[in-house]
Amino acid sequence: MKKFQVISLFPEMFTGVFESSMMWKAQRDEIVQLSTINLRTFGIGPRQQVDDTPYGGGDGMLLKPEPLFAAVEEAKKNDPTAKVVLMTPRGQRWKQSVAQNWSEAEHGYIFICGRYEGYDERIVSLVDEQVSVGDYVLTGGELPAMTIIDSIVRLIPGVLGGEDSAAIESFSDGETLEFPQYTKPSEYNGLAVPDVLLSGNHAAIAQWRADNSFKAE
Ligand code: SAM
Repeated sequence: MKKFQVISLFPEMFTGVFESSMMWKAQRDEIVQLSTINLRTFGIGPRQQVDDTPYGGGDGMLLKPEPLFAAVEEAKKNDPTAKVVLMTPRGQRWKQSVAQNWSEAEHGYIFICGRYEGYDERIVSLVDEQVSVGDYVLTGGELPAMTIIDSIVRLIPGVLGGEDSAAIESFSDGETLEFPQYTKPSEYNGLAVPDVLLSGNHAAIAQWRADNSFKAE
């Protein structure tokens, strides 16, 4: 069973995502194990301090190295071969082809969620991959970690209902976006489903879908 462990100061954020829909089903079916490690547990002193001011000055606080190193060590005890992934706007941009590769990997993953102004750079010495979800800054690495885990888990065989579901989706060939889709009723508020989709002519439907798929930018 593939393990996904997330190191975060706000593990409660993962509850809704991990306990719903496909993520819930993938755990029920013992395809994946999803868990969180509360970074605060490894905080220092009576106040369980996890952050401190940056050397050299500057605004904001950084996650301290000691709690992060201890949390990664704990996660590695659970899954010694797991790869460590750091959420950072500096990382490689996440995309479907990488999600596909990671869904096929035998090993698990440990995600580190930064907070505040970021983290002490020395944590990078423990990290196998640095990943960004896009060229914008979020408050923490939790939403990126959820996004990445979701995109991987749904590609693991057995998680989605129809095994072709993922193969025909947007980006599955690296560049094509899925064609428009419609469901019943065939007309709603004067808006009609294209006739060809109601025709039963499979060749014509396939052609229409090909003509109406788009190339990603
Ligand atoms: N000071 C940092 C900078 O300018 O790059 C931003 C820190 S951000 C407020 C806090 C944390 O959120 C980051 O350390 C990272 O873990 C996470 N984060 C924010 N945006 C992200 C993105 N686009 N992709 C991945 N992680 C991100």
